Amino acid sequence: MQANLAQLKSDLVQHYHWLRQYGCNDSHSGNASFRWHDEIWITPTGCCADTLQVDDLVACHIDGVTGEGASLDAPLHIEVYRHNAKAQAVFHSHGPHTIAFTLKGDDFVPVDFEGQYYFPTVPVVTIPYDRYIELSPNAIADKLADHKVAIVRGHGVYTYGETINLAYKWSCSVELSAKIALLNDSNTRR
Ligand SMILES: [Zn+2]
Repeated sequence: MQANLAQLKSDLVQHYHWLRQYGCNDSHSGNASFRWHDEIWITPTGCCADTLQVDDLVACHIDGVTGEGASLDAPLHIEVYRHNAKAQAVFHSHGPHTIAFTLKGDDFVPVDFEGQYYFPTVPVVTIPYDRYIELSPNAIADKLADHKVAIVRGHGVYTYGETINLAYKWSCSVELSAKIALLNDSNTRR
């Protein structure tokens, strides 16, 4: 049975809050959305994960129309849903270990068992900071058409899931795998 709209809104706010609570975002970074038929419900621009309420979410449309006050990443989220019919939720986060470990721009290959199992290779995309809004929707949607996770070098993580909880899971999983990879690197340098 498909969850109802009110439940999905509540779930999105809860999971976005958890990303902040467990260190994958700071107070105001990242954004999150879910798909409801042809509607895309997304966090507002500049929102604070600690105080976000269900009624703050902004409705957009799969045809590209973005609601007033929607996250600046709304066109990117819409593009992901357009490229991937399986996507029911999209999350963006700033996991510090993931960002630090991929600053060189090479694709991320997890060294831990679970990371290898979930995502043998995570694509890392380089997008010039001054052309981010213009280039990021297609660049990320292209990767998330056949990967659960894509990383933007120096910026953060984008994931999609068949559910809100799965998009959240991939955001957390890749961050833990990057933390392990960083610890392994510092261990092998000793
Ligand atoms: Zn960001």
